[in-house]
Amino acid sequence: MSVATDLFELQDLELSCTRMREELASMPQIAELAKKRRAHQKLKADATKLFAARKDEETFIADLDAEAQQAEERLAAVRRNTDMSDYRDIQELELAMSDHAKKLDKVAFDRAAHEKKLAELREKENYLASYIKKFEDALIADAKAARDAAEGLQNDIAESERRIERISARLPQDVLQGYRAASKRFGGLAVERLEGSVPSICRMALQESSMAELRRADGIAECPYCHRMLVLDGE
Ligand SMILES: [Zn+2]
Repeated sequence: MSVATDLFELQDLELSCTRMREELASMPQIAELAKKRRAHQKLKADATKLFAARKDEETFIADLDAEAQQAEERLAAVRRNTDMSDYRDIQELELAMSDHAKKLDKVAFDRAAHEKKLAELREKENYLASYIKKFEDALIADAKAARDAAEGLQNDIAESERRIERISARLPQDVLQGYRAASKRFGGLAVERLEGSVPSICRMALQESSMAELRRADGIAECPYCHRMLVLDGE
């Protein structure tokens, strides 16, 4: 493994490490998951509202049933106190029976309206409950997929870091220091390769005098134009 090969591998590994760290920080799965969690909160709030509305309807109906029950009891009391041989008593009973019938009609009418509303609410509630269940199943799967995707990236980063360490350990100290300084200065693009007489990054063709000078250097030199590390042909 030549020093030049090591330098290029080191550069590639560090560039891909940077890319993977950025990817990890801005994983679309993570953002998507946060969005779905907010949507889930909203669905749960809707379910709570429906539940409260249904409870209200059930209370209305129970109140109407109690009202009908009370009306029955009132009529029974009038009946008990009616002297069937007294004409005025009988008239009062007939009046009470008529009021009672009207009362029951009204209760039945209101009750039907509330029953209808209750049935609608129950249907909505059931639909929403099954929708939320499906949503939650998908959310769990998404969370797992995001975790797996992150885990894959995290493993790749760790593996790259191990390789970076191994290469750094075997490179000559001065070459490594030169590489680190250039990498910092040039945003990770520290090393270029000479292709013919043209460096691969700055693309400024070298003069013959520079070429001759570089050939005398031992494989690794500095580009006279951009000052990156320059690896000569054949290395
Ligand atoms: Zn250059």
